[in-house]
Amino acid sequence: MTVRTPGTPARKIDRTPVTTPGGPKSKEEKIVVTVRLRPLSKKEQLAKDQVAWDCKDDYTIVSKHPSQERTAQPPPFTFDKVFGPSCLNETVYEGVKTVALSALGGINATIFAYGQTSSGKTYTMRGITEKAVNDIYHHIMNTPERDFTIKISGLEIYNENVRDLLNSESGRNLKLLDDPEKGTVVEKLVEETVSNDQHLRHLISICEAQRQVGETALNDTSSRSHQIIRLTIQSTLRENSDCVRSFVASLNFVDLAGSERASQTHADGARLKEGCHINLSLMTLTTVIRKLSVGKRSGHIPYRDSKLTRILQHSLGGNARTAIICTLSPALSHFEQSRNTLFFATRAKEVTNNAQVNMVVSDKQLVKHLQKEVARLEAELRTPDLSREKDLKIQQMEMEIEELKRQRDLAQSEVDELRRKLQDDQQTSNPIELPRPSMKKSLSYSDVLSPKLDRKEIDHNDKTRKTLLRQSMRQSSTAPFTLMHEIRKLEHLQEQLGEEANRALEVLQKEVAYHRLGNQDAAETIAKLQAEIREMCAVRSIKKEVDVGTAIAPNRSVSANLKEEITKLHSQGSTIANLEEQLENVQKSIDKLVMSLPSSNQESNGEAAAKTKNQSIKNNLLPLTSSNVANRQNFIKSPSSSLSTSQQIMEPDNEENRPPEDDDIVSKETPRV
Ligand code: ADP
Ligand code: MG
Repeated sequence: MTVRTPGTPARKIDRTPVTTPGGPKSKEEKIVVTVRLRPLSKKEQLAKDQVAWDCKDDYTIVSKHPSQERTAQPPPFTFDKVFGPSCLNETVYEGVKTVALSALGGINATIFAYGQTSSGKTYTMRGITEKAVNDIYHHIMNTPERDFTIKISGLEIYNENVRDLLNSESGRNLKLLDDPEKGTVVEKLVEETVSNDQHLRHLISICEAQRQVGETALNDTSSRSHQIIRLTIQSTLRENSDCVRSFVASLNFVDLAGSERASQTHADGARLKEGCHINLSLMTLTTVIRKLSVGKRSGHIPYRDSKLTRILQHSLGGNARTAIICTLSPALSHFEQSRNTLFFATRAKEVTNNAQVNMVVSDKQLVKHLQKEVARLEAELRTPDLSREKDLKIQQMEMEIEELKRQRDLAQSEVDELRRKLQDDQQTSNPIELPRPSMKKSLSYSDVLSPKLDRKEIDHNDKTRKTLLRQSMRQSSTAPFTLMHEIRKLEHLQEQLGEEANRALEVLQKEVAYHRLGNQDAAETIAKLQAEIREMCAVRSIKKEVDVGTAIAPNRSVSANLKEEITKLHSQGSTIANLEEQLENVQKSIDKLVMSLPSSNQESNGEAAAKTKNQSIKNNLLPLTSSNVANRQNFIKSPSSSLSTSQQIMEPDNEENRPPEDDDIVSKETPRV
């Protein structure tokens, strides 16, 4: 099992913490340096040691060495905070509280205690840790919206060996590993997940009990090792939140071994060896701080020269907020050590860190988030927007069909009227008995065929027929050439009607394919529609052949041509009716296709579908969406579009045929529909 070293995110975090682009940017900040002056110990008092330091104010500490000249006194030292002998742990904690609690918001934090043996480091760090634990759990209680996970690990560096304080079985020399992603990690270090504040306090006490304690001449209970207790705090917003990010940060409590020189401990043998090693780590720490304090961040910083600095690398000029509490003995007998501590503290306050909020996205959360996103996109694909688009196209096609019907009715009226006129003419000039095909039936057919046409539309059709009747009556006085011309135009119109229907069907088919909604029913319907259209085309081609036959007889008299035309019209009476029937079938098939397509609001019953359809008929024609630009162009550019067809019907060929003012209304109204 591996764990990341303090300053890097802990193990068991699914992904390496990353500062997201939208997250807070890194913040440059100087290390917070405070100084704590402890009271004279009983031993010092008994030895009649003198107090050599005084707190001038909350920020300044001054020397009051009795035997030194004022000029020989070191200058006053100023720091972020200075705590006198009467200050309690609570007060000292206030000076580093903001740094410690940064970890709750995803910012790594480290609090060091630095000072000579018996200066009060362990005493201070215990107090700080206890207060921080209280505040952390107080914060957790007051932040119910977030789910907190706290883990703890503890290690000791003794004689440059790393030992797990939570697992005495792991041996005394754990390896440090360099992970390209995680940084320096301590191999096999145990990390316990904390269940509550009591559990945490218990685990911290285990760490302290495990710490190597040695006896020295300076302090019977002074520790000879560096202790690092590390909390990893991860918090995530609870469920019902779209936020999938977590804050994760480590909070390190570092109780360093005494900063005194080995010679001062009067140690020999084993003790001397310990002292040398302690100094190696502390000397490297001092060097690192010194180099960082003079702004040589770009230069070589010897973090790797000791295990202490390797493990604490991120807390020294890196991604962490750091506070150093320098502890001092006020005794004159320790004056030099205290002065050295103050020099170290002065350098340390020049070191700048670069803390940033660490956010992680766990694999589990990421999968959950991606699933949500996929579901959202799927829902978007089924949104009414696309269905609405389809509805609009169907609506447009229905309107096209209505227009085709209207034009067919117009043509039918005209044919009927012409026939009647011709019949009258024949009866007067050459009373040939003209057969009466089932044109009456055909005339009234449109009303039967289009039950959807409301009264207004029928009235409009009647009006159109009447206007045409008037027009035809007026035209009846013109030469038979005009009649021939009208017949040609009608034929042309019929041809266009077929083309129009074919085009509408092509578009419909393309749309269905485009939306991949073409189920079996729809495919069958389209096939049926295409068959019907082919049939219509076949009828037209037969008629064309007849037309060609007529056109290649230029020498025949006009009246003979006219007779032929009338006979042809008679024979084609059933053909027109046939075309109407075909159109009706097309309409029905399209209706069926419309019903087979899913409705926009996904109502499955027929009533809902009918409602949607009726609504779409009532609505004005809306522009096509971008997905159908090509088809839209087909509609617009089609030479047989409703506008161009109507214009062709009503456009007079010459002055003679120009309709009167009254009829102009028709020519204007017709394109409107
Ligand atoms: P260090 O860890 O620096 O070697 P300790 O924390 O063990 O020193 O402190 C040495 C002794 O001084 C302990 O008995 C401790 O209780 C006492 N002591 C340290 N600081 C204070 C203080 N601020 N007020 C009262 N007693 C203190
Ligand atoms: Mg100690």
